[in-house]
Amino acid sequence: MFLGKHLSLWLDNCDELSFDSLNGNIEVDVIIVGGGVAGLSIATLLKKEGLKVCVLEARRIGHYITGTTTAKISYTSSLIYNHVLSNFGKEFGLKFKEAYFDGFNKIKEIINDLNINCDLRKVSFYILSGDETKNDFLDDELVALKDLDIPGKIVSNVPYPFENVGKALVHENQLEFNPIKYLHGLARYIHGDGSFIFENSRVLDIETVNDFKIVKTKNGFVKGKNIVIATNTPIYDPDSVYKHLNQNKSDGLGLLLKRDIKDMFVVFNPFHTLRSTPTPNGEMLLLLGEHHSIDDSTDRFEFYRNLRNFSDDLFDVESFEYFWSGGDNLTEDKLAIIGESSEDCVYIVTGFNSWGINTSMVSGIILRDLILKRENSYLNIFSPLRFKNNETKLENEKIKKFRNEDIGFSDSVTNTIVKMGNNSSKIINCEDGILAIYKDYDSNSYILNGRCSHKGCVLHWDNVEKIWECPCHGSIFDYKGNVIRAPAIHNLKQH
Ligand SMILES: Cc1cc2nc3c(=O)[nH]c(=O)nc-3n(C[C@H](O)[C@H](O)[C@H](O)COP(=O)(O)OP(=O)(O)OC[C@H]3O[C@@H](n4cnc5c(N)ncnc54)[C@H](O)[C@@H]3O)c2cc1C
Repeated sequence: MFLGKHLSLWLDNCDELSFDSLNGNIEVDVIIVGGGVAGLSIATLLKKEGLKVCVLEARRIGHYITGTTTAKISYTSSLIYNHVLSNFGKEFGLKFKEAYFDGFNKIKEIINDLNINCDLRKVSFYILSGDETKNDFLDDELVALKDLDIPGKIVSNVPYPFENVGKALVHENQLEFNPIKYLHGLARYIHGDGSFIFENSRVLDIETVNDFKIVKTKNGFVKGKNIVIATNTPIYDPDSVYKHLNQNKSDGLGLLLKRDIKDMFVVFNPFHTLRSTPTPNGEMLLLLGEHHSIDDSTDRFEFYRNLRNFSDDLFDVESFEYFWSGGDNLTEDKLAIIGESSEDCVYIVTGFNSWGINTSMVSGIILRDLILKRENSYLNIFSPLRFKNNETKLENEKIKKFRNEDIGFSDSVTNTIVKMGNNSSKIINCEDGILAIYKDYDSNSYILNGRCSHKGCVLHWDNVEKIWECPCHGSIFDYKGNVIRAPAIHNLKQH
């Protein structure tokens, strides 16, 4: 099955902007850990207010979740307003709306102000059921939109490739862009005049000394009064919000079609999301779907096979160019987590529920106003403190299932490896404890501690990405044990 290059199209041939790693010690007003869309949106708004900021990025800016996104920019995450109205009431709903409209407008303003060339386009955003017998939720959302005075309408003339679908909810004048070009534009603005971006500078430890935070990397530290944790899942988490997050994964394809698709779509039943973007070879469609949990034992190629079949059925495909996977954090109440933690001057942003582009700018506005002690009507509606003292069934179930996973005592490591085929993986329980083994195409074996370095959950293998993933909290390690995704900070021990 040919799927093209194994990476997200945003990360192929992206303009090679790079930054040095931290070497030495510096002091700034605000330290931002994580150089994805969240970290850079927040850094931009703080620098615009005259604050000195320092972004510390473990790898390359935008090269993790933000590099896998479809980057639809909208004041709605497909369907959210009915949920917000029904669960939190009208007063909350109006504040929520104000936050997301402010974020949406601020993105346009920043792109314009900083003159960022990021293929920004105005498009319509269609939300459809995919199953005509299950359309009621579109009507319910429309009622909520009307109640909150948000534009949106139900239409029956849906454009290609969904002309035969009965109806859709459409939000006109939404936006799409190339997220890496956008981040590079923000990064060029942030770095300089006493503010910094450092890449390949993983934060290994955070200490409090008097009123300051000291943030340590391998070759230096940064001192500052305020710290923002923007590592997608927090690596520093005074209120343990990680216990209230769940992770899912999706798989994506980049394909050239014989007929261009102009707008953005989300289809439920089964779930798919799609949009196109200009490339030197013409308009390329991004198609994402096949949501699955990290512990799903399905052969991961199966998800791509399904996506390919879906594409062949629906479009006139010219060629398959790219394939990749990605996943975001979901919260139990479907609201992002943005605000000051119970530790003074420590700010957390996470739980973007696959709606992180606009939510990152909302985070920037909220943290700017909190740090500068400005009034803002929606300052506290996403507070991380809302979970304080809440029992979390989610976490208890995960720990029971994945930390205390019952793995029978296995053969010795040597015997196991002899029996393993090339390019295969295994979790074993032996005299050295739970181990994760990958045997590559050339019979080299990589033997690692099989428990996540964050909270000790037993890892699962992704046979397409060749990574070990934590089904509890989403940490990811490569087959050599190097940490790729937070919340883990430390590599897996090798055996
Ligand atoms: C498949 C998919 C489709 C999506 N589609 C959309 C969409 O259409 N519209 C939308 O609005 N949202 C969408 N989202 C959601 C959105 O892309 C994410 O919410 C957003 O990109 C998350 O940004 P982030 O900055 O939190 O995370 P990231 O981009 O992962 O950034 C976090 C950064 O922190 C760094 N880091 C981790 N640990 C450390 C450490 N110890 N020290 C220093 N740095 C560290 C990481 O290396 C990483 O670069 C989608 C998500 C996925 C997965």
